[in-house]
Amino acid sequence: MDLFKSKALVLRRIPYGEADTIVTCLSEEGRLIKGFAPSERSSRKRFGGVLDLFNQVEVQWKENRNSELVRLQLADLVCGMEGVRNDLSKFAAACYFAELILVFHKENEKGPAVYNDFVVFLEEHKNHETFEPHLVPLMEHRFLDLLGFRPELSVCLDCRESIHPDRDYFFQGKKGGIVCSKCKTRLNGSFENYPLSYKLLDLISREFHKNPRQWKSNPWSPVEVHSARRALEYFIQYTAGKPFKSLGFLSKILSS
Ligand SMILES: [Zn+2]
Repeated sequence: MDLFKSKALVLRRIPYGEADTIVTCLSEEGRLIKGFAPSERSSRKRFGGVLDLFNQVEVQWKENRNSELVRLQLADLVCGMEGVRNDLSKFAAACYFAELILVFHKENEKGPAVYNDFVVFLEEHKNHETFEPHLVPLMEHRFLDLLGFRPELSVCLDCRESIHPDRDYFFQGKKGGIVCSKCKTRLNGSFENYPLSYKLLDLISREFHKNPRQWKSNPWSPVEVHSARRALEYFIQYTAGKPFKSLGFLSKILSS
């Protein structure tokens, strides 16, 4: 069996048996690695206690020809994220983004962008930086795009015209995009009613082309955060075909 090595982010930990753990990591190449970590909870010899949620680590593993589950051999800490784990809103957001990646990561490898953007979020929040709620819809939109599920927010799904300041927009979660007020009147069908203003759609599309490190400087109004999240989170859960556990937790933390 060959030995593989990569930098990775710890996305999920499931205790197994007395002392073992099944750890799912996202490698820097964008691959999900589900690994069996023997005695991870009883001995610090191989893993040194570094396989904590959201830590950036360097892992070594052996692949198993008959199973997706690899065998983790060693792990070293690259960057500890206790600053994220110890703050409830940062932790809840990171749990939600991890679930988003785990659910929508369908192919074997997705390239380094998902990993890089998540690392930016974690690095920016591991110290004293406060968590800004507008990062939730921006990260949702970014991860959906990188994982191949981006909803259409820049042209009307029906007339295909680009968003325009004179029109209002309505997000159709089941179709995965927006319809303009003109088309909505004409179609007169049954719509899920998720209104999104031109201003908000324009804001999302401008932020979309920036590096997530620049998102900090652009706080939104609470109403804008709420509208964008409501539309995107309907779409996310409808597309996934199930509710996200971590989303209820995040919404509770952010509203308290
Ligand atoms: Zn239209």
